[in-house]
Amino acid sequence: MIESYRPIRKLRLAPYAWLKWQFMCHRGATEVAGFGLSAAHDPLYLEDILVIGQHASPATVAFDDVAVADLFDQMVDQGVPPNRFSRVWLHSHPGSSVTPSAVDEATFARVFGACDWAVMGILSRAGNTYARLQTNVGPGCSQELPVVVDWQAWPQHLIHSSFDSHAMTWLQEYEQHVKPITISYPELLDEEPTEDLTDTLRPDLLTWSDFLEYSSP
Ligand SMILES: [Zn+2]
Repeated sequence: MIESYRPIRKLRLAPYAWLKWQFMCHRGATEVAGFGLSAAHDPLYLEDILVIGQHASPATVAFDDVAVADLFDQMVDQGVPPNRFSRVWLHSHPGSSVTPSAVDEATFARVFGACDWAVMGILSRAGNTYARLQTNVGPGCSQELPVVVDWQAWPQHLIHSSFDSHAMTWLQEYEQHVKPITISYPELLDEEPTEDLTDTLRPDLLTWSDFLEYSSP
């Protein structure tokens, strides 16, 4: 009997992407979301995190429709196909838990359910990570992925760029794109967060899933 060798799938981040995610996670008191930019040779290797216009609270985050549309225009103009920048949905939790909330699960199912594959990734301030690959073709499957950082690439990266310039860029992106919304915790704790809660908060922020559906092959 021949045993086939199958390497364990992981979500790998370039150090630049990892440190940017950490920066976004710790910069403010809200969640922050972005799309992972996959390497051309490996959809599960993230070179960057694309932070776009969004409204964020300590327990929710949603992209602005216009920002998603602009991102698609910009990336397509650069010749980057949608499956490299709109399949990996990352966000941070300002607490320590990385367990997806009911809102996270509802968003992931609604927004990415029409994609051939998608990943939901979460980073908390305690440094915990969570990632899950969902494939929606054929019988479909769901698989948790370890999150690892490609630290070997960091020295070479720093030779060609400075950390200070990265930090300034991240700060500008944060201040330009992340718009905090105020919701009180009692409002959240009255009931388990649900999709209805998100609808109530910002119903106009929920149609960005349309872009992903249109971009699916
Ligand atoms: Zn979440």
